[in-house]
Amino acid sequence: MNEDEELEVPAEVHTVCQYCGGGGMVADPKLAVVGGAPRVLDNGRPCPHCETKGQFAGIVPPV
Ligand SMILES: [Zn+2]
Repeated sequence: MNEDEELEVPAEVHTVCQYCGGGGMVADPKLAVVGGAPRVLDNGRPCPHCETKGQFAGIVPPV
């Protein structure tokens, strides 16, 4: 009854998305004029690389 002894070796290996750092969202700063004052809006947008998953299954080497 010791099936948990593989804890040190994950059954699935994931690679964190380098584009968004695993957050699934990337910064998307836009300059906007609000009330006559220029402001930078950054609502972020879904990461186009991992499609907001933030990681990939298996090993994905840096490109
Ligand atoms: Zn990503």
